[in-house]
Amino acid sequence: MEPLAAMPRRASHKLSNEPEPTPERRENMARVGQKNTKPELIVRRLLLGFGYRYRLHRRDIPGKPDICFIGRKKAIFVHGCFWHRHEGCHRTTTPKTRTSFWEEKFRVNVARDRRKLADLERLGWDALVVWECETKDVSKLESRLVNFLSNEVDKKRK
Ligand SMILES: [Zn+2]
Repeated sequence: MEPLAAMPRRASHKLSNEPEPTPERRENMARVGQKNTKPELIVRRLLLGFGYRYRLHRRDIPGKPDICFIGRKKAIFVHGCFWHRHEGCHRTTTPKTRTSFWEEKFRVNVARDRRKLADLERLGWDALVVWECETKDVSKLESRLVNFLSNEVDKKRK
């Protein structure tokens, strides 16, 4: 695999063998901003390597997962540790100024994430959360993704 450092600084919003987004999709991506982050691209690149077919940011799937596998009813969220409050992670800091503003913002983010997972689960979907810091260890991430997509463990758990 080519090192990610070789990616251009202003990375395009898609990997080379992903389908072209529609103009509407493109506009939406520009507006939302926080999509197609570097950790998300790392995950997508691995998935492409495995040959899995996935969909991105589908608005018609509950919780609008970053990545989803409609036939398998599986969804992946790639979360930035700071914004989504990865518990116990060194990236989960709180700014020293306007602390209550930030705390409220984070509270809303975490509540939204929980709701998304609950909505998906209610509809029989399995969801996997990949934290930004977990994309650093690519081989560990690879096996998590493969396990998540290939077996039924998550269904038996319930
Ligand atoms: Zn983290």
